[in-house]
This record gives sequence, C-alpha cells and structure tokens, in this order.
Amino acid sequence: MADKDCIFCKIAAGQIPCNKIYEDENVLAFLDIGPLSDGHTLIIPKQHYTRMHECPPQVVACIGSVLPKVAGAVFNVLAPDGYNVLCNNGRASGQLVEHLHFHIIPRKAGDGIFTQWPAHKYPQGRVEKLAADIRAKL
Ligand code: AMP
Ligand code: ZN
Repeated sequence: MADKDCIFCKIAAGQIPCNKIYEDENVLAFLDIGPLSDGHTLIIPKQHYTRMHECPPQVVACIGSVLPKVAGAVFNVLAPDGYNVLCNNGRASGQLVEHLHFHIIPRKAGDGIFTQWPAHKYPQGRVEKLAADIRAKL
C-alpha cells in the first residue's frame, strides 16, 4: 500500500534517492536530509501508514526489531553522548511527513536540541482516572 503523493513512499519505491542505511522486505532506514545532528537517521515501514496506532502491530514489530541494530551502528560511528528515538504522530507533535517514521537522533551534552520538557503535576484523582480510562480502551 503506497500513497502516490508521499515522499517516503517514493523513497521506499526507489523513485527518489536516499542515503540508505538498512533495507529489508518491510523496513527501510536512511539518513535524514535535514539532520538535527550528524547521523540523524529515519526508519520507516515500506508500506504507507500515517500514525503509529494506525499501523499493524506486526509492521511496528518489524521496525522495532531493526531499531537496535541501526541505533547501534549509528552509535558506533558517531560516538554520541546519547541519542533519542522519536516518533512524531500528528502535526501538533511535529510530524511533517505523514508516513510513519522513527528518528534516531545522536546527541551531544549541551547540544541545545529539545531544550523544553514542560512537565507538570496531576491534580488529585486525575492520574488514577486517566489510567483507568486508557486501560478500558486497550
Ligand atoms: P517529522 O517532522 O517527524 O515528520 O520528520 C520528517 C523528517 O523527514 C524531517 O527530519 C526531514 O528532514 C526528513 N525528510 C524530509 N524529506 C526527506 C528526504 N527526501 N530524505 C530524507 N529525509 C527527509
Ligand atoms: Zn508513504
């Protein structure tokens, strides 16, 4: 299943070039063209899905089984202080390309990437209710 207007579908089909890192039947990994840091890598399913919860678990599992291998290779080459594995889902989260993808972003201490993490505390009773509501939807 492909979307004719989707740039990552075109990359997966070989119609647009990429700097390939890894490929198998279901998954492709390549370097991000606008990296937040050297070695910034994207891992995508070859089939077109927009958000993670719309993607069949087996396809997410295929990505998951490739993530450690690719992250390890990136880690070995770039020797970062750390790295983020990130999946933006929906425009509000920062998703610009509407084909599911996971970022591997090598990090250096003090690199200034993702400086905000505006954590807050739940009001009394809210966290228990939320957990119950989400459990009920599993
Ligand atoms: P997101 O904001 O999570 O949708 O991230 C999309 C990512 O795709 C961005 O980091 C872009 O730099 C990257 N990107 C867009 N087009 C290409 C392309 N042709 N090749 C490689 N990376 C791309
Ligand atoms: Zn696509």
